[in-house]
Amino acid sequence: MDQVEQRNIVIIGGGIIGCSIAYYLSRHPSYSTSTTNIIVLEASANGVAQGASGKAGGLVAKWAYPREIVDISFPEHIKLAEEHNGAERWGWRFVGCGSWEGKGEALGESGSGVGKGGNRKSLEKTLGFEDTALASRADKGLPDDLTWVKDELTTSYSPMSGPDGTAQVHPYLFTTSMLDLAKEKGVQLVKGTAISVERVDRHVTGVTYHDLSNPNRIETLPATHVVLSAGAWSPSIIPSLPIAATRAHSVTIHPKANVTISPYVLFTEILLSHSHVSPEIYARPDNEVYACGPGDDSILPANVDDVEVDLAACQSITNHIASISQELREGTVDKRQACFLPVVRTGGGPIIGEADNIAKGLYIATGHTCWGICNAPGTGKVIAELIMGRKTRSRNLTKLAPSRFL
Ligand SMILES: Cc1cc2nc3c(=O)[nH]c(=O)nc-3n(C[C@H](O)[C@H](O)[C@H](O)COP(=O)(O)OP(=O)(O)OC[C@H]3O[C@@H](n4cnc5c(N)ncnc54)[C@H](O)[C@@H]3O)c2cc1C
Repeated sequence: MDQVEQRNIVIIGGGIIGCSIAYYLSRHPSYSTSTTNIIVLEASANGVAQGASGKAGGLVAKWAYPREIVDISFPEHIKLAEEHNGAERWGWRFVGCGSWEGKGEALGESGSGVGKGGNRKSLEKTLGFEDTALASRADKGLPDDLTWVKDELTTSYSPMSGPDGTAQVHPYLFTTSMLDLAKEKGVQLVKGTAISVERVDRHVTGVTYHDLSNPNRIETLPATHVVLSAGAWSPSIIPSLPIAATRAHSVTIHPKANVTISPYVLFTEILLSHSHVSPEIYARPDNEVYACGPGDDSILPANVDDVEVDLAACQSITNHIASISQELREGTVDKRQACFLPVVRTGGGPIIGEADNIAKGLYIATGHTCWGICNAPGTGKVIAELIMGRKTRSRNLTKLAPSRFL
């Protein structure tokens, strides 16, 4: 009889990537609580999903990138939503999505939407979208039900996919649901800040961390497998990781109660009197609208709970989207927030796989740039297969392998 392998798995970081990995590990056919112990170690005092994973837009698109992981992730999103009632639980639904170009009405303010400490950077979500579709934009009109942007201000609208090509989730609800579903199967959440991955003979043996309940206490969790999924903070554990941090601001707005905002996500190009701005606008279920501005290169704080929110940057986003929509102008701003997304410095990414050139048992899952919400289930599934599976399914993920980046 085969000897049963004992696994102690520590996942560093409770964003959408870490929580999705925990979910897929806990649903793997080889998982049982008697042989496998899984811990999610999270540095925020407020629990999981306090960074980009709780403050992102939530777009899930077949046309996202890179193909290798999108092709796994998109069908997994559909399956998860069916299995766990994602529509109710995390706002899963298909949405219209397109690029909208036009003029903004003057509101007495026009800024760049960039917070203090940074030069403006595109979040590059449309990079994976082919030029041919952009070229055909001029021939397209506004869909009949896209009534919450002003007709007369619109120059063009171009859809980015067919009706089953773009969907959305509420990122905070999705991330916390992944963790809750994993906890139901025995996964534990530990609040603490990882300091280092312990290794003996080039094999991981544990994770040393500061306990949040007692900052003077340093503990070590024993581990046979360690997954580093700490988003923009990942280089604090493996400094050679080529991950940079980009900050971005966002707001949520509740339109007036009698206003219906049809389900569209818009990538806008708005011409204002003295500038050109491009906020992204996401209609959400429950009469919520989310909008985000460009990224900036301000400094990453040590902890996610210390991310600085520049209210002027939030106000700029609010003004910009109000300049094309009466419905949004009359709404109430609910959240003003900022977060850092992890970007691979050398281009490409995300980085997914075992970093056995550093240590056996060390897995990296980070650098998801602007598509981490979309690509989280695919990442979770792949890492779970690598750790738990005797036979890893034949997937060609060599382009994303840590050895290519480290
Ligand atoms: C404005 C904006 C809009 C976006 N919109 C979309 C979208 O529509 N669709 C999409 O697919 N993607 C979107 N993204 C990208 C997406 O949000 C990210 O790719 C994704 O959230 C990254 O998840 P993560 O788990 O890697 O990182 P994070 O969410 O940052 O999570 C990392 C976690 O690790 C923890 N941590 C850090 N250091 C330690 C440590 N030493 N010990 C323990 N824990 C630690 C942090 O506290 C944090 O909770 C958007 C991003 C931004 C900024």
